[in-house]
Amino acid sequence: MNSTGAERWTAHLMGNYGIPPVTFVRGAGTELFDDAGNRYLDFLCGLAVTGLGHSHPRIAAAVAEQASTLLHVSNLFVTEPQLEVAERLDRLVRSGTDLDEPGRVLFQNSGAEANEAALKLVRKFHGRGRHGVVAAFGSFHGRTMATLAATGQPEKHEPFQPLPEGFRHAAWNDVAAFEAALDPSVGAVLVEPLQGEGGVNTADAGFLRDLRLLCDERGLLMVLDEVQTGLGRTGAWFGFHHAGIRPDIVTVAKALGNGVPVGAVWATAEVAAAFRPGDHGSTFAGQPLVAAVAREVLRVMEEVDAPRLAEERGAELTALLETLPGVAGVRGLGLLLGAELTPDVLADRTAVDVARACLDAGLVVNGVTPTTLRLAPPLTVSSDELAEGIGILDDVLTAGATGGAA
Ligand SMILES: *Cc1c(COP(=O)(O)O)cnc(C)c1O
Repeated sequence: MNSTGAERWTAHLMGNYGIPPVTFVRGAGTELFDDAGNRYLDFLCGLAVTGLGHSHPRIAAAVAEQASTLLHVSNLFVTEPQLEVAERLDRLVRSGTDLDEPGRVLFQNSGAEANEAALKLVRKFHGRGRHGVVAAFGSFHGRTMATLAATGQPEKHEPFQPLPEGFRHAAWNDVAAFEAALDPSVGAVLVEPLQGEGGVNTADAGFLRDLRLLCDERGLLMVLDEVQTGLGRTGAWFGFHHAGIRPDIVTVAKALGNGVPVGAVWATAEVAAAFRPGDHGSTFAGQPLVAAVAREVLRVMEEVDAPRLAEERGAELTALLETLPGVAGVRGLGLLLGAELTPDVLADRTAVDVARACLDAGLVVNGVTPTTLRLAPPLTVSSDELAEGIGILDDVLTAGATGGAA
């Protein structure tokens, strides 16, 4: 960002994000351009949001057409795009499961709100006294009061205490720890199928299946937070599909709007029936603009077979990363990958510094932990773009290792 921009930013915006380094003005596919005309490869997608890339012609057309047709009527009325989004989401959630009966969808405006609604649905379903929820350490579920309480990062809780009660945390990938955290007040478990914000931590084979069995045994609802992993990114329509399990509640958001803010909760018909008129609501949720865009996102994703793209390009990206001397290991699934950097690379800098050096060199990634880079390119990324991006990363890692300026 130039100095005038930085001044205006500091003078008028709250300081909860830190001063942004770049002002982006335009994007196309995997490419981004800043206000000085510099080109970048976007291997982050605004935090796994723009899965179909920037300025996708079909998405742009859907925005323009709906903008000049109907923007808002409130949830006292239904609009056509919502219906198709709900139908498609339901079909995709249930694909690869043994669920024959259609579930139900509730629109929200973001990931946190989708999780917040899911948590309220759990309370309404079980009734008073069984409001407890067990989530995983290292998880991320949002920034509202309840989703912050559900987030398994206690240091994030401290400044905002007291938070809603009833949330407890158990070690990731450890079903025995989840079981030990149960008591009669617990009504649900809440997990991501792959922890994104927590550092790209993949679930062990069997962890989600064992958790499902535990939920069945104890009459608990299994809530899958697919806000980051949903809609193809991991190489399956939903991350939980890799485990072959049946969810009770699934939340989605990020990729659903390809950049317009929209979230949704899916629940089995039995669970969804707990919400009666008046129990929950939102003025904007599922309004015509975002619903028309989400409808087009889902249509395009199905046409291009988004999960297959993520699986194929993800395998290529993993292989490329593994050839880099500065990369000690690669975690994740599909096109949601974490590259663990070597102690050598990290001798005098963190992964956050490396991500910053990548940005200066024209590659957008992020340091998701002090030692891990997160890579989440669009599902439409080309093999050439992957090779180009990894070339940039290689240069940045090598420059650091030889003591050169990054
Ligand atoms: C990003 C994220 C959220 C929060 O979504 P917002 O749209 O930022 O509120 C919740 N859960 C997971 C797994 C996420 O990655």
